[in-house]
Amino acid sequence: MMIDLRSDTITRPTGEMRRAMYEAEVGDDVYGEDPTVNRLEEESARVMGKEAAMYVSSGTMGNQVAILTHTSPGTEVIMEANAHIYYYEAAAASAFAGIQPRPLAGNKGVIPPELVAGAIRADDVHLPPTSLICLENTHNRGGGKIVPLENMKAIYKLACKHNIPVHLDGARIFNASVASGIAVQDYTGCTTSVQFCFSKGLGAPVGSIIAGPSGFIDEARRWRKRLGGGMRQAGVIASACLVALTSMVERLADDHANAHLLAEGLAGLNGLDFDPREVDTNIVIIKPMKMLPGQLKEELKKRDILVSVMEPDMIRLTTSREVNREDIEKTVIAIKEILAG
Ligand SMILES: *Cc1c(COP(=O)(O)O)cnc(C)c1O
Repeated sequence: MMIDLRSDTITRPTGEMRRAMYEAEVGDDVYGEDPTVNRLEEESARVMGKEAAMYVSSGTMGNQVAILTHTSPGTEVIMEANAHIYYYEAAAASAFAGIQPRPLAGNKGVIPPELVAGAIRADDVHLPPTSLICLENTHNRGGGKIVPLENMKAIYKLACKHNIPVHLDGARIFNASVASGIAVQDYTGCTTSVQFCFSKGLGAPVGSIIAGPSGFIDEARRWRKRLGGGMRQAGVIASACLVALTSMVERLADDHANAHLLAEGLAGLNGLDFDPREVDTNIVIIKPMKMLPGQLKEELKKRDILVSVMEPDMIRLTTSREVNREDIEKTVIAIKEILAG
């Protein structure tokens, strides 16, 4: 059996999800007639503390529909330089929304509020208006870092002062909440809109939600349709998301415990640039110093362990319900052996 630490997106639906999918009541969601999708959207809006929510096919579509709805072409969007929206969405915000990204260098994904304050454009004919601020929590390239609530509050306060909306890429916002003990609504309370993924640690096969004010969601529905994201009997997949939302959140703590176990095992290893104190949630990023990440990845693969190379010098290991303690112990032993040559 392979030990798959490439991503938490590899999680497969549970038996309960499969049964819910089989039994799902469905209708045409573009007509607003799929009772299961409607229930998922209502429940998600409630959990996020927002007026309304909309089911979308992926996290990327959720973020992009949010950007399209909040902005107009020729405006500028502030985002962190390692944000998923900047790094991993194939420049969709430039290609579709016609915005100019304004990437700011954060620390593990956390942007100092002073930097945001300095980046908000003045009203001047030479300058693009700042139309949106995007945040990400937990921060993927920041190693699953929990962005502190205080940081989000400070940025939101600034945004409100300038009348600029804030969108949260909360693909893993439940990881942040479960690990920090801070309610999801406290985080989303510092944002205008939020996107979160069902298809990562929550284990559902397909889909994300965007949530926000009802007028925003009404407009977002048109953007989703325009992009070809209007799905019909989507209750078949939304049913699994309902199971995820009601029964898979608390278990994220197991993924965090496994990531910490991995971190402890790798702490202080010769040949590894790694600080276990940087592990907040379910992502562990290591830098091998005496071999290329690609080599370490290949050696691990020979031992039936899959990891992902994130950068020329970085490897990402992600825990999920597809791996258990024993898998983590085996991985630690394998990495020790490989590094020892
Ligand atoms: C995975 C991820 C997304 C995108 O989700 P997809 O469903 O893969 O499109 C967006 N933001 C972050 C932080 C992610 O980790």
